[in-house]
Amino acid sequence: MSEKKLKVIYRPRGPAREYAEYALNPYKGCTHGCIYCYNNGRFGPKGDFFARSRPRDIIEAVEHDCQTLQGEFGIHCPEIHLTFLGDAYQPAELHFELTRKIIKIFIKYDLPFTILTKSPYILRDVDLLGPYKRFRAGFSFTTIDQAEANEWEPGTMPIESRISALRQFARFDKLIWISLEPVMRIESTIRVIHELKTLPDFYWIGALNHSSPPEPINKYHARERIGAALQQHNCQYKFKNSFNFSLG
Ligand code: SF4
Repeated sequence: MSEKKLKVIYRPRGPAREYAEYALNPYKGCTHGCIYCYNNGRFGPKGDFFARSRPRDIIEAVEHDCQTLQGEFGIHCPEIHLTFLGDAYQPAELHFELTRKIIKIFIKYDLPFTILTKSPYILRDVDLLGPYKRFRAGFSFTTIDQAEANEWEPGTMPIESRISALRQFARFDKLIWISLEPVMRIESTIRVIHELKTLPDFYWIGALNHSSPPEPINKYHARERIGAALQQHNCQYKFKNSFNFSLG
């Protein structure tokens, strides 16, 4: 379908395309303030992206795009991913309820979608997301160590609350996927896997490419060790292209 038919739902490019054929970003800006955030500095001075969450005035456009996608693809519409530009459940969402409004539109048009978040606030919408069959819950983890999370993701809620939210979605028999991206420390990523085991249905693993991790990571060894941990628990997983390497 020509992208020109859509107003705000779009086809991602580059590494984002590995996750999703279509995406939507309700917010510009993100108060989670992750030190590895790809968006920090893309739209203005460094730090500006973290300063506040700007809700986008997109509800009418989302309605238009969902109607268009439904008309074009019907039941075969590809999954729509939220988000690549600011967590859909950062604290501002409790005030604006923009993500919630968008979810209602997706459900109205019977479209498949997924939300990738670091926030337990996703539980607020469990009344909508729990019963809806065409939703997959995504949770992002770099660590389960609170000290590391404080350093790497200083604006997020306690890591235990993220795990608890994931467990609650698992009870709803939802499909759940995990983004282990970026790998900051191999050991930290492996600890996440040993904690969550097969609670999620699928793991994606991605490297940190646009800045330096706290300690150098050899991609070959990272793939070996992280892959072994996932295989130990019989997990389904895929390394993103960012983990490709050349033996020279
Ligand atoms: S949650 Fe995502 S968008 Fe928000 S600061 Fe962290 S990496 Fe950036």
